[in-house]
Amino acid sequence: MSTSSHSADGPLRRDPASPSPSYALAVPPQARRVLEVLEAAGYEAWCVGGFVRDSILGRPVSDIDIACSALWRQTEEACLAAGMRVHRTGEKHGTVTVVCDDAAFEVTTFRVDGTYSDSRHPDEVCFVRSLEEDLARRDFTINAMAYHPQRGLADPFGGMEDARRGIIKTVGDPTRRFGEDALRILRACRFCSQLGFSLDPDTYQAMLEGKSGLSRVSSERITAELQKLLLGEHASDAILGTVDVLSSVLPELVAMKEFDQCTPYHSYDVLEHTARAVAETPPYPLVRWAALLHDMGKPGAFFKERSGRGHFYGHAKISVALARGIMDRLTFSPAFRDRVLLLVERHDDVFDATPKAVKRALARMGGDVELFRALCDLKRGDASAQAPGYAEERMRLADDLLRVLDGILAADEAFTLKSLTVNGRDAMDVGIAQGPDIGAALAAALDAVIDERIPNDREALLAFLGKWSRADS
Ligand code: ATP
Ligand code: MG
Repeated sequence: MSTSSHSADGPLRRDPASPSPSYALAVPPQARRVLEVLEAAGYEAWCVGGFVRDSILGRPVSDIDIACSALWRQTEEACLAAGMRVHRTGEKHGTVTVVCDDAAFEVTTFRVDGTYSDSRHPDEVCFVRSLEEDLARRDFTINAMAYHPQRGLADPFGGMEDARRGIIKTVGDPTRRFGEDALRILRACRFCSQLGFSLDPDTYQAMLEGKSGLSRVSSERITAELQKLLLGEHASDAILGTVDVLSSVLPELVAMKEFDQCTPYHSYDVLEHTARAVAETPPYPLVRWAALLHDMGKPGAFFKERSGRGHFYGHAKISVALARGIMDRLTFSPAFRDRVLLLVERHDDVFDATPKAVKRALARMGGDVELFRALCDLKRGDASAQAPGYAEERMRLADDLLRVLDGILAADEAFTLKSLTVNGRDAMDVGIAQGPDIGAALAAALDAVIDERIPNDREALLAFLGKWSRADS
């Protein structure tokens, strides 16, 4: 895995007035207001977690979480009195959502998690008095920092130094921390992918030793972390660097590791090809899952001819079977799963980059433009992870397919029954019997339009349907 170093001077501004090193992070005015209101009411409140980490690293920040000494009812009372809205989103865990000028913040009471008898949910949470106790229950040092616009950074576990060195390290003993909640093992892999960080050696060792604990973690939580890993900017390094951990939830990866493809088309083993293909696709879930799964069937389909050259005839079908197993084990909507499986099945289909061929492919995909685009993105990513010399031509073909698609869309050309200038009513009017013949006649009309035998013009299509009706009777 790569170790990227982040300069602590990069996105940070040293505050010269402060006696100890402190840094000014950009806290949005609404968050400042919530902190002020809580502190004016006599409590202590800090920005915590992902916001602090991402601000320090100069990455885009998403939501801002606030940790506070107030109990949730006290937070609610103080914020309501200041004219803010409050939603009771997680009172059991001490969390309410405070809305200030349309910006929402999760405000959580300083807490520690109780014992974890099932290594997935704490049996209870205990509210505590000090920020430091709250930070100590957090997973990694880079996630265990707090920031306050006046008081600066609170960093009792060396998160800033680990952020600077690009290291993922647990707060406290990794074996104990992964034993409490095994999901943290996947979270570590996911942060490697998002941040390009390396794993502290002791943390990594404990991940390997504790990975069987993931069998007790819910499939929803595992799926969410895997997806964040797949979408990360450093997904390839993270997959290759943590495959021996990921294999506890994706055992299918094991056969791909170091599987020599024995072909001039490929310079990488199946796993490295896959990891590179993932990273070379644009970061959206549909295509990244398909890229992860597209070649899983290769080890099972491998065939070596006498010359020593490898072939993988029919691997896409085996990949689909393995992918279906994985997706059924994890948590996806049936619609999303089916779209991913279709991409896996079709990833090696050959299309000419001509309007006719693209429209035919679109028609076969039920006119689903986004799915076809994803197929082109997958083909491009797949191609770019092949051997130099072979990759370029196939990448160009995928680019050409996308260009042809854009042309078809710009010209509003027909590739679905709906886009024809005639419909079922017209088919009946020219004498085609109600029932399956209508669909067959319209499909024949669409074929003729796609093949450019007739234009998508109402008169021409009515004549076509009339002829079809007479030929059929
Ligand atoms: P992102 O929101 O980008 O996924 P994040 O770090 O904000 O990243 P969240 O899941 O929103 O992650 O959690 C917020 C904070 O809560 C984390 O930064 C961390 O301090 C703590 N945290 C989250 N999950 C765990 C966990 N399983 N164990 C310990 N601490 C956790
Ligand atoms: Mg978050």
